[in-house]
Amino acid sequence: MYQSVKGKTVIVTGGSKGIGKGIASTFAKNGANVVVVARNLDTSKACVSELAADNGNVYAVSGDVTDRESMVEVAKEVFGKFGSIDVLCSNAGIFPSANLEEMTNEDWDLVMNTNAKGTFHAVQACIPYLKKAEYGRIIITSSITGPVTGYPGWSHYAASKAAQLGFMRTAALELASENITVNAVLPGNILTEGLEELGEEYLQEMAESIPMKKLGRVEDIGYAALFLATKEAGFITGQTVIVDGGQILPE
Ligand code: NDP
Repeated sequence: MYQSVKGKTVIVTGGSKGIGKGIASTFAKNGANVVVVARNLDTSKACVSELAADNGNVYAVSGDVTDRESMVEVAKEVFGKFGSIDVLCSNAGIFPSANLEEMTNEDWDLVMNTNAKGTFHAVQACIPYLKKAEYGRIIITSSITGPVTGYPGWSHYAASKAAQLGFMRTAALELASENITVNAVLPGNILTEGLEELGEEYLQEMAESIPMKKLGRVEDIGYAALFLATKEAGFITGQTVIVDGGQILPE
């Protein structure tokens, strides 16, 4: 139990599914008030009931990270309900594949607008409230794809994930004097509902390619984000934490 996150208000964009849901669950288990933000409110509400069975303290708010006003409204609503925003986990992301030679402007823009610009929208909307907090924490879910490796079929995705890191480092500098830290977690292959659809054989092959011979769990990302959100992590800013079972290490 990380006592310092108890009672803190934590927003998790893309918190209704996959890694975001894992992050939400990890914070809730440690006593935080967690707000999951996603476009589909029904999915978010289903997530809230699932997590409430374990922990309680989880709420759903509808929001679209591609829409600046929507994120401003989300931040206003959360602050109105809880009286603080202490932690933002900017996690919402999409990863449709498109071969580079066939990629359209629409393909590119959708991924950049969600992953890179969506992070900007969420962070900017929360800054006024994070500044009022005892200390603020921003944790961005990036990826090893882009910042560290490439992945054929996902050049727009890789660009968006690398863009998040340039943004993260600069935001860390701009917000350091406000006692707000900004860091990123870079997941490797994490087992989510979406990945499960690829089938047992494919997942087994994927696991074999990882030195630890297993896929990551959403909680693995949750605990990395949780540590970065603690009071104890208050001197870490502008950094990346890779959570990949050794995947990017050379053979
Ligand atoms: P999922 O598809 O499982 O979940 C995505 C979440 O984001 C959902 O809650 C979805 O809800 C939400 N979302 C998507 N678009 C928007 C939007 N415009 N506004 C608000 N919410 C949105 O994804 P993962 O859990 O797999 O991925 C989460 C993050 O982790 C992403 O940033 C991804 O790049 C990163 N990542 C994932 C890896 C993996 O192995 N899974 C590996 C490396 C990085 P809704 O559709 O209702 O809006």
